[in-house]
Amino acid sequence: MPSNAHSLIGLNPDACTSCMICVRECPVWCIDLASHTHEVTEEGARRPKVVHVLDEFTIDFGACMYCGICVDVCPFDALAWSNETDQSAHSASGLVHGIDQLVKWFPASGS
Ligand code: SF4
Ligand code: SF4
Repeated sequence: MPSNAHSLIGLNPDACTSCMICVRECPVWCIDLASHTHEVTEEGARRPKVVHVLDEFTIDFGACMYCGICVDVCPFDALAWSNETDQSAHSASGLVHGIDQLVKWFPASGS
């Protein structure tokens, strides 16, 4: 496989800030994301900071066009092309993958 091939997409949930940019930019709306917020008070800060915590992140590879827009627009490099290509499933719902699977597809190099 060429290193720049568009195959499956991996997610690094630790890098994802739930900013929703990929969700909004995906032309076929096949990314779903759920998050909640909580306040963090840092030492010396004048007021607490609100941070988003990622709860769910799914990509429906049955609808995905492999255009790469989500990978390109993520400001935190939380999405990357995987070296994996096998995505067969017995039903359409089997092509919807969440954090548990997407994290396994995130390449070690994060490229
Ligand atoms: S590759 Fe394109 S179609 Fe697939 S999830 Fe990303 S933005 Fe959406
Ligand atoms: S663009 Fe990146 S940081 Fe923002 S929600 Fe998508 S994966 Fe997470």
